[in-house]
Amino acid sequence: MISVKDLRKSFGKLEILKGIDIDIAKGEVVVVIGPSGSGKSTFLRCLNLLETPTGGQITFEGEPITDKRHNINATREKMGMVFQHFNLFPHKSVLQNLMLAPVKVKKQPPAEAERIALDLLRTVGLSDKKDAYPSQLSGGQKQRIAIARALAMQPHVMLFDEPTSALDPEMVGEVLEVMKKLAEGGMTMVIVTHEMGFAREVGDRIVFMDGGQIVEQGTPAEVFGNPQNSRTKDFLSKVL
Ligand code: ADP
Ligand code: MG
Repeated sequence: MISVKDLRKSFGKLEILKGIDIDIAKGEVVVVIGPSGSGKSTFLRCLNLLETPTGGQITFEGEPITDKRHNINATREKMGMVFQHFNLFPHKSVLQNLMLAPVKVKKQPPAEAERIALDLLRTVGLSDKKDAYPSQLSGGQKQRIAIARALAMQPHVMLFDEPTSALDPEMVGEVLEVMKKLAEGGMTMVIVTHEMGFAREVGDRIVFMDGGQIVEQGTPAEVFGNPQNSRTKDFLSKVL
């Protein structure tokens, strides 16, 4: 579904991504781990072209999306993204938050957008909050709504950048539970997280990044159980 070849990103003279190669299959759950500053967010942001790569190619569903002629917006609609901070529209109700982009961007009939939104609220267990405003929700609830909002665009892949890092500990579980359900439903997902238990349980593949490169990757059993690279070992010894 996604093929990344020699992806590079520099800010000024500083090269942050130093040649990333990875292929992600439909339905695969890839968990990206690594120390702070290793380029994980930059990698995710390059995948959906929030950042313009300075080198390499990304192919998404057979289309070379890093080509100059490519329509970036069409691609972004197919890639849902969830950030550490939820960025819900504060003056809109939960239901309006979920319907806005499908109606405005995808030109979905409002009735259909509402039906899909209500379905998604059931999926994330927040049907009773449809008329609430973001300020009336807990952090965990906000993040579940942010996930539902991304799903409302019916993306083909979901990108998560530390979706639970800003949450109080007691709210982490409910968000991971929603993500796990999504994975079990066959969604293609790329997840940056420090939740190693979740990574081990839900990830099909673990990718360890350091210094703007993929240093090691494999199944959870391989990477967590028997890391090969000294930098992976060092990182895991600090977080496990
Ligand atoms: P991670 O998500 O693994 O913590 P990031 O991708 O956020 O790492 O950042 C990697 C490096 O790139 C950091 O040194 C960061 O300061 C730098 N960086 C990220 N975004 C920018 C930017 N817009 N301008 C300049 N430097 C940036
Ligand atoms: Mg980051």
